[in-house]
Amino acid sequence: MIKNIFDTVTLANGVKMPRLGIGVFQVEEGSELVNAVKNAIKHDYRSVDTAAIYANEEGVGEGIRQGLKETGIQREELFVTSKVWNSDLGYEETIAAYETSLKKLGLDYLDLYLIHWPVEGKYIDAWRALETLYKEGKVKAIGVSNFQIHHLEDLLKVAEIKPMVNQVEHHPCLTQEELYAFCKENGIQLEAWSPLMQGQILDHPLLKEIAERYQKSVAQIIIRWDLQKGIITIPKSTKEHRIIENSSIFDFELSGEDMKLISGLNENKRVGPDPDNFDF
Ligand code: NDP
Repeated sequence: MIKNIFDTVTLANGVKMPRLGIGVFQVEEGSELVNAVKNAIKHDYRSVDTAAIYANEEGVGEGIRQGLKETGIQREELFVTSKVWNSDLGYEETIAAYETSLKKLGLDYLDLYLIHWPVEGKYIDAWRALETLYKEGKVKAIGVSNFQIHHLEDLLKVAEIKPMVNQVEHHPCLTQEELYAFCKENGIQLEAWSPLMQGQILDHPLLKEIAERYQKSVAQIIIRWDLQKGIITIPKSTKEHRIIENSSIFDFELSGEDMKLISGLNENKRVGPDPDNFDF
């Protein structure tokens, strides 16, 4: 049973990761960013997702510090994720990139560090670096992002430590059923990016009808659907009222029938790049 915003998923190594977090993609350094992270913490979010390429780790760090100060909670109660960018994939480069992210965030460890994209010929060396960081106790959990089944199979052949998380695009138009099943079989937790399809799915007539029945917003219905599927989700908003709205999802439950209706919207449609065909 999913009870509240403090609910966690236990990753393969025993680390507990919050089921709901806030994402900060496309939020530039500045007060909007700092306030979004601070407000999320004030409204009981315990997980923040950033990446080196978002070029906002300093503001995220400042938002975290302000959030901790205002709420009195401890760093250990938060779960912070960042990701190594493609140009830093390589053993030494990835270790150095981790240190740079820590410095920018002003933290002495991350809870989760991910390989952002599966760049052919590069992600295995980067994975070795993540394994080293993990074994040295510098990061609590390690994982990947945008990995398809064949990327995971390739990695699992040589990995000493299995990735604990795979963060991928996931929303009602892209339900990733095969990848979901593969990850489940292999003890890899799936995490949804662009869970709201970057806002492009919020006018969908079926979702609006379901939302009306539960007296909830479409965003709340989708976030709840993620959680009931057992998928970690990190909707992005910089607006305090939406930060509150996106986490007000613990007082209702979608029926099995509605869960199926939402999953039935799948069209294998992406808003982001295709992990099998990207050139960055
Ligand atoms: P989302 O699907 O979370 O959608 C964000 C958009 O929806 C924003 O425009 C936001 O606007 C709007 N929105 C949020 N809540 C509501 C609401 N309740 N009602 C109406 N509109 C709403 O998109 P993202 O691409 O940001 O994905 C979420 C996170 O996933 C990212 O921030 C990032 O951390 C991660 N990510 C990871 C990727 C990867 O490759 N690993 C790639 C892309 C994202 P506003 O802010 O104005 O409220």
